[in-house]
Amino acid sequence: MPSTSALFAKPADAQHVLDSIHDQFQLGRETMLDLTGQFLEEFKVGLSGYNHPMAMIPTFVTGVPDGTETGTFLALDLGGTNMRVCEVVLHGDKTFTLRQQKYKVSDALKTGEATVLFDYLADSVDAFLTSHPPPSSHGGQDPFSEPTADVVHLGLTFSFPVEQTALDSGTILTWTKGFSAKHAIGKDVVKLLQDAFDRKHMHVKCVALVNDTVGALLSRAYTGGGCVLGAIFGTGTNGAYVEDLSNLRKLANDPAGSRGGVMVVNTEWGAFNNTRSHLPSTPFDNALDRQSINPTFQAFEKMISGMYLGEVTRNILLALVDAAPKSLLFGGKTTVVLNTHYGFDTSFMSGVEEAWEGAEARPDPQGAPVPQLSAFENPEKLDADTKVRLERVRAVLVKDLGFVEADISLRDAVIVRWVCSLVARRAALLSGLAVATVLIQTGRAVFKGFSDKLTKNEDKISVGVDGSLIEFYPHFEETLRESLRILVGEEVEKKVEIGLAKDGSGVGAALCALQAAKQL
Ligand code: BGC
Ligand code: MG
Repeated sequence: MPSTSALFAKPADAQHVLDSIHDQFQLGRETMLDLTGQFLEEFKVGLSGYNHPMAMIPTFVTGVPDGTETGTFLALDLGGTNMRVCEVVLHGDKTFTLRQQKYKVSDALKTGEATVLFDYLADSVDAFLTSHPPPSSHGGQDPFSEPTADVVHLGLTFSFPVEQTALDSGTILTWTKGFSAKHAIGKDVVKLLQDAFDRKHMHVKCVALVNDTVGALLSRAYTGGGCVLGAIFGTGTNGAYVEDLSNLRKLANDPAGSRGGVMVVNTEWGAFNNTRSHLPSTPFDNALDRQSINPTFQAFEKMISGMYLGEVTRNILLALVDAAPKSLLFGGKTTVVLNTHYGFDTSFMSGVEEAWEGAEARPDPQGAPVPQLSAFENPEKLDADTKVRLERVRAVLVKDLGFVEADISLRDAVIVRWVCSLVARRAALLSGLAVATVLIQTGRAVFKGFSDKLTKNEDKISVGVDGSLIEFYPHFEETLRESLRILVGEEVEKKVEIGLAKDGSGVGAALCALQAAKQL
C-alpha cells in the first residue's frame, strides 16, 4: 500500500502523490464484499455475547408504534452537537408537535466530572420547565400533566453505548464523540440523571432510556407506519433495527429471550472492526485515531461521521502542504484554521462541494476525478465552466479557512474539492455497507455465504435516518444507495425508502416513555 513516505521519496512526481492518495481511499467491490462478510460476523458475535466492540445491545423495546399513540412527554437529548430539552405531544394520528430549547455543552462539561455534567442537564430541564410550563388541560391518561400525578415523566435520549438492563436502566459502556466525563463508565445513566434531579428536589422522573438510533426508528414508525432500521449519520454514526428474539442469543436465559417475538437492537456499529483487520485504514486515518481522545475505539465511526471527516480531510491537506521539497498546496502556507486540531469542520467540506456544483447539481458518478496537474500548468486554458466553479470554491476557502485570495490558486481549489469528495464518498459507501448488512441480517437481502433466499419480502423497506451528513452533505444518500446496489442488488435497493426522522430523538424518547407508562 502506498504511504505518506511517497510524499518524500518521490518529490518530483507530484501527480503520483495525488494518484496514490486517491488509490488509498478507493473501496473496490471485493473489499466491500469482504467488509460486509466481516460486518455480519461481528453482528453474530455481538448478538451471542456481551463485551464485544459491536455491542448489539438489547433495548427492551419489543415493538414499534403505529401512529395511534397519544400523550405529552418531556424528553432530554444528549449526544449530538447540541443538548436539547423538548416537550412532545403525540396526537395519535401520526403527527406530533414539539417545543424545544437547545443548550450548548462545553468541552469542560464533556470532559469534567460526570456529576457536574448531569447537574447541568438537570438545571437545563429545570430552566425549560420554567420557561415552558406544562400545558394545564390534557386527557387524564397524560403522564406528563396527569392532574393527580405530581411528577413529570421524562424520556432520556442518550446517544452513547449503554448496556441496557431494562427500558429505564443501563450502564454506560464507553464515551464517544469527544465526551470523556469522569466517573461515568460502568454507572447507570438513568440513576446519574435521577440523582441530579433529586439533588435539586425536582419533581421529574426519568422513566425511559433510548439511543438516538432507536428514537429515529420509533419516530419513523410513528409518522410513517412501520420501520425496520433507524440510523444516524451525523456527529457520530450508528444503527438500530428490529431483530427476531430467537437471534438475540445472549438473552436466551432471560425471560425476555424466551418469549419469541422481536426486539429492537442497538448495534453500535461505529465500533465495527475496531481491530482494523479489514478496514482499509490510511495513514491519515491512523493519525486521526492516534490523536483522538479515544484511540483504537470507534474505528468505523472515525471513517464516516461528521465529527471526523473534516479532520481526515485536514490531515490530507496538511500532508500536501508539507510535501517536500516542493509544497503541493497553498504554496506551502497554512492558516490558524488549518493548523488547529479539528479546525477544519465537516461543514466546510459540504460548502466546498456545493460551491463546485453550484445551482445545477452535477455529481461525478465515481466521485471527483484525480486532478490532472498538467492541466493547471496553463490555467488560462481551462474551460470557462471549470473556471467559474473553481472561483466559487476559492471564495469558500477564503471565507472558511482564512486565506487571502492571492494565496489560493485554481489548482489549489481543484485539489481541495477532490480531497473533500474523496473522503466523503468513502464515508457514504461505508454507510451503505452498514445498511446493507442489516438488510442481509434480517433476511431482506441475500448474501453469498450467508443466505441464499429472502425470508422477508416486503414491497417497501422503511429506514428512518437523521444526522447532518445524510441531511445536508451533497449526494451522501445517492452514494449510500450506490453502495446498496453493489452489495444487495438494484431490486432490493429500490424497495428501500429512506426517510428523515425529523426530531427523532425527542419523539422516540416520548414513545419510550409511553411504553414505560404502560408497563407501570
Ligand atoms: C454512539 C451511538 C450513537 C451514535 C450517533 C455514536 O458515537 O456510540 O450510541 O447512536 O454516535 O449519535
Ligand atoms: Mg441528535
